[in-house]
Amino acid sequence: MSLRRFTGPLTRNLVRAPGRFGLGQVPERLEPDATTTVVCGYCSTGCGLRIHMRNGEAVNLSADTRYPVNLGMACPKGWEALAPLKSPDRATLPLLRKDGKQKPVEWDEALQAFTAKFKRIIAEHGPESVAFLSTGQIPTEEMFALGSLFKFGMGGIHSDANTRQCMATSHVAYKQSFGFDAPPFTYKDFELSDVLVFVGANPCIAHPIMWERVMMNKNNPKILVIDPRLTETAQAATRHYGIAPKSDLPLLYGIAHVLVREGWIDRDFLEAHVNGYEGFARHVASFTPASVAAATGISAAEIEELAGMIHDGKAVSFWWTMGVNQSHEAVRTAQALINLALITGNIGRPGTGANSITGQMNAMGSRIFSNTTSLAGGRDFLDAGHRREVAEALGIDPARIPAQNSLAYDQIIEGVCEGRIKGLWVIATNPLHSWPDGDKLRAALQNLECLAVQDMYATSDTARLADVFFPAACWSEKEGTLINSERRLGLFKKVSKAPGKALADFYIFRLIAEYWGCADVFANMESPEQAFEVMKRLSAGRPCDFSGIRDYQHIDEKGGIQWPYRGIGADEPQERRLFADGRFYTPDGRAKLLFDPVRPPAEPASPEFPLVLLTGRGTSAQWHTNTRTAKSAVLRKLYPAECYVELHAADAARLGIKPEEWVRVRTRRGAVRARAFIGTTVGLGRIFLPMHYDGVNALTLSEFDPHSRQPSYKHCAARIEKDS
Ligand code: SF4
Repeated sequence: MSLRRFTGPLTRNLVRAPGRFGLGQVPERLEPDATTTVVCGYCSTGCGLRIHMRNGEAVNLSADTRYPVNLGMACPKGWEALAPLKSPDRATLPLLRKDGKQKPVEWDEALQAFTAKFKRIIAEHGPESVAFLSTGQIPTEEMFALGSLFKFGMGGIHSDANTRQCMATSHVAYKQSFGFDAPPFTYKDFELSDVLVFVGANPCIAHPIMWERVMMNKNNPKILVIDPRLTETAQAATRHYGIAPKSDLPLLYGIAHVLVREGWIDRDFLEAHVNGYEGFARHVASFTPASVAAATGISAAEIEELAGMIHDGKAVSFWWTMGVNQSHEAVRTAQALINLALITGNIGRPGTGANSITGQMNAMGSRIFSNTTSLAGGRDFLDAGHRREVAEALGIDPARIPAQNSLAYDQIIEGVCEGRIKGLWVIATNPLHSWPDGDKLRAALQNLECLAVQDMYATSDTARLADVFFPAACWSEKEGTLINSERRLGLFKKVSKAPGKALADFYIFRLIAEYWGCADVFANMESPEQAFEVMKRLSAGRPCDFSGIRDYQHIDEKGGIQWPYRGIGADEPQERRLFADGRFYTPDGRAKLLFDPVRPPAEPASPEFPLVLLTGRGTSAQWHTNTRTAKSAVLRKLYPAECYVELHAADAARLGIKPEEWVRVRTRRGAVRARAFIGTTVGLGRIFLPMHYDGVNALTLSEFDPHSRQPSYKHCAARIEKDS
């Protein structure tokens, strides 16, 4: 099904009349009062929603009872997904900074300004002087189109996405251990385990529908939560291990120590399918429960108990998310979990796996197809054969594909701060709110020769600084596919009209290509569905092969389709996992056990800053920087309007702080005002701030995992001051 095909060559006339080819209209093939299905546009769970339309506009929605992901459930954000579309501050016109002020202009003027500014910067300073920062919040087709445009058309080299902030660690960990970025699980595994181990994950509020799937488990499973905070998930767990912040890596090595010492390993599986066991066993030999107890703050008996419960389980699954990924030694921590699954043979069977829960709704699409840090289909920019394959699929000269890797997000930001990067294009993300040490970034963005921002609101912190602003359509106003945490491709449909002259990102990229003079990059992909065909071809023969998918309608009919899908039978089960045959994607087909010495975090507590600051998700009604969720009156009722800080009752008593009193949380990078929430959710000497409120991320430290270059948001030194 093509919900809306682009009906003619893209010309500048289109810019002046965006409705002419249907770009601002509802799809012609949907009945005006139809009900149709789409996938939710917030988190990586990828729930199916039924959209109810009247007079050709989406007016309401309900959770899709037939979609295999959510089985009729949705979290508050899903139920309120339509509200942010109608917000009065939706961007309707391009903006251009003139005499220091952003002024509304027509598309033609904005596009001419963008191309002139970026072309001049490249001409004067070379291709490494421009960059883009994108998102996990747009369809895969748009990510693929953006990377192709910028790198193969405009001649840029450096680009990254905000997925660096949430999922880079899992991407690198899987790639190194399994040979490909391949989360092995399917959501059914939540229901089939008899032991579930959650590390640095709070699915109760961050992934509520996944948690509902855990609640559907009929095995009376043991739920073991390893987290420095008594999260909602920890409160519901069989056992909570409240370790010291950033002591997860020694703990996981300590658990491995006990498993090895007791011989509680799957020797047959290791011999047949895994490399590196002898070295790993030697590595964990020094991580005795007694030594690990000192590092983690839990007892040696608890470590023995944890290992024993993992050994006793018949189907053990290990789950992690941002508590692991956002760390100074994140990749090795994720791999310590992968190692536990491998040495105990808990992979490839129902209810098992080393399972990274993704963050954004299309982080998986970004990880595999965005042409940013790797080439489409998990290919490598440094491989001439890979460059040729991508060029062939697009019908361009392979020489146009850079034989050079991109800088990572933090290196791009550093380039901006140091003045090496002079033109920055930001698409559907808000780094000024989300990036660590935000004050430094603000100064750097203000010094750019051109900051271009493309978003659905011109009111985000970053958009307000833009020299050029492009108004974009959002979820439900455009079509495309996404890939959820369990590798399931789902479908976005256009069921609403974008406001004013806002355009789908895909068509903004095509317009830029035309103005730049590189429209040939889009020769094989004039519409999202054509781009999907190109990506299908590029997936063929790769681990992420989905070349068996017929078209968008096929995805819709099947309730999403997990990769790999080579079309090998109509009766393939709805929920599939990887590695049932024990073969991994490495050259010899064997997984690798990878490990390193433990390193302390860069900024320990000190006399001046005696507390450790943790950050994370606040409630299930909040999303990222609250840019969209704050637009819903219903969601606003479901979370505290004011920033709050969780602190231990004994710390509060020592500091003379009363419940709900205003305080200042200060780090070496600044301070935020917050109301004191006193209790036992955090241990003595620790405090917690939800990441959604203004200024919180700016307090965190610019420290990065050396392999994934993901920021370590979860640990820095802080103090609490009375608010005078
Ligand atoms: S759990 Fe995620 S995908 Fe599902 S409704 Fe909520 S935000 Fe949407």
